[in-house]
Amino acid sequence: MQTCDVLIVGGGPAGSSAARVLKRAGADVLVLDKERFPRLKLCAGWITPEVVRDLEIDISSYPHRFLTFQRLHVHVKGLYLKVPCVQHSIRRVEFDAWLLERSGAPVVQHTVRNIRLEDGWYVVDDAFRSRYLIGAGGTRCPVYRTFFREANPRAAELQTVTLEHEIPYDWRDGDCHLWFFDKGLPGYSWYVPKEDGWLNVGVGGMAERLKRSGKDIRYHWHEFTRLLDRKLANGAQYDPSGYSYFLRGNVDVVRIGNAFITGDAAGLATRDMAEGIGPAVRSGIRAAEAILEGKPYDLRDVTGASLGGGLVTRLFDWAMTRGA
Ligand SMILES: Cc1cc2nc3c(=O)[nH]c(=O)nc-3n(C[C@H](O)[C@H](O)[C@H](O)COP(=O)(O)OP(=O)(O)OC[C@H]3O[C@@H](n4cnc5c(N)ncnc54)[C@H](O)[C@@H]3O)c2cc1C
Repeated sequence: MQTCDVLIVGGGPAGSSAARVLKRAGADVLVLDKERFPRLKLCAGWITPEVVRDLEIDISSYPHRFLTFQRLHVHVKGLYLKVPCVQHSIRRVEFDAWLLERSGAPVVQHTVRNIRLEDGWYVVDDAFRSRYLIGAGGTRCPVYRTFFREANPRAAELQTVTLEHEIPYDWRDGDCHLWFFDKGLPGYSWYVPKEDGWLNVGVGGMAERLKRSGKDIRYHWHEFTRLLDRKLANGAQYDPSGYSYFLRGNVDVVRIGNAFITGDAAGLATRDMAEGIGPAVRSGIRAAEAILEGKPYDLRDVTGASLGGGLVTRLFDWAMTRGA
């Protein structure tokens, strides 16, 4: 049996952020991920300056595709707003692999199935054991399932459903465009260009409200890609895939004993924009600090609202979740 101080289940942004902080402090840490990196992660790959800061990324020496937008084009039911702001796009397949490697932590490809607590040790599949355990395995994280599901049951009203595809495409418009609530979608659609001829397009909405509307995500995908064909991505061909995750809801219990949950495992994506990379990174860092410094692990400074928490946030939150 392989033994270490801290086992991290999942090597996405939450897991690699925790691993980096722990490794830098000299902890004996091991990351388990069911995939071999670089691995595909469905995601628009839009990141905020806050994420860049939290990850201490020097943009000029980031070795992969990195595009900066100076404005966002926001379309809300026929209204059009050009919002000046600085935001970035990366390709997750590159970004996640780079972050994980940069963490310096050893990584073992392993699908975690069973976890038990025995005499103060977290024992994983009778093959690994540790004193601390960080759940960073995304929506289906086995650490959440084993220790936290009862304490933090996920609210069906906060479940998102998405369809997306990232394709090589010689885009002409290098800005990010977002369409909110188009054709009754309880969410939004996006056009996110990446540096060097890549493009990510997708639609995301609240699963329960979609079900009630009688129009599924494929209907919205179809309508949206028809619009793109006319306006921004003529002739692009797609073969989309789907993924589901949870917006921030009941996350009262994020630590039980020496087990922690972070990122999508805890359901931390923001309520207004369903942005999850920032909360994953910040929660991973906070979990690592709690272990190293023996301080409480809490999510007070892990943002629950991308738009700053003001009136606009509350309006978008309401429109997405209708007060769930
Ligand atoms: C279509 C789509 C678009 C999105 N766009 C954006 C965006 O533009 N900006 C943004 O901020 N957020 C976006 N998000 C949300 C964002 O992708 C997630 O919130 C973020 O990836 C969460 O990071 P994480 O580290 O918690 O989990 P993940 O990135 O999902 O990483 C979890 C890791 O755990 C591993 N794992 C899972 N189960 C096991 C197991 N049993 N054993 C071992 N390993 C396991 C997986 O292989 C994976 O590598 C989007 C999500 C979707 C679906």
